Amino acid sequence: MSSQITINRKWCKSCGICVAFCPKKVFDADRDGAPVVARPQDCVACTLCVMRCPDFALKVEKEA
Ligand code: SF4
Ligand code: SF4
Repeated sequence: MSSQITINRKWCKSCGICVAFCPKKVFDADRDGAPVVARPQDCVACTLCVMRCPDFALKVEKEA
C-alpha cells in the first residue's frame, strides 16, 4: 500500500506530534522541527497523524 501524504505548511506549527506518534515512522523532523515525509512507502493510512494534528495540517489519501 502507498499513501499520498500532504502537509499544509501554512497551518503546520512544527509541534512534532506527527513525527513522534506515527507508528510507522513515516516522518522525519527537519532542523526547525517541521515534519518531512521521509518514508511515504511505509504509511499504512491509519490516519493517526491526521487525528492528532492540532492544526488540521495533514491529509492522508490511500492510493491503489
Ligand atoms: S497515516 Fe498513519 S502510518 Fe501514515 S503517516 Fe499518518 S500516522 Fe503514519
Ligand atoms: S502534528 Fe500537525 S502541526 Fe504538528 S508538526 Fe505535524 S503537521 Fe505540523
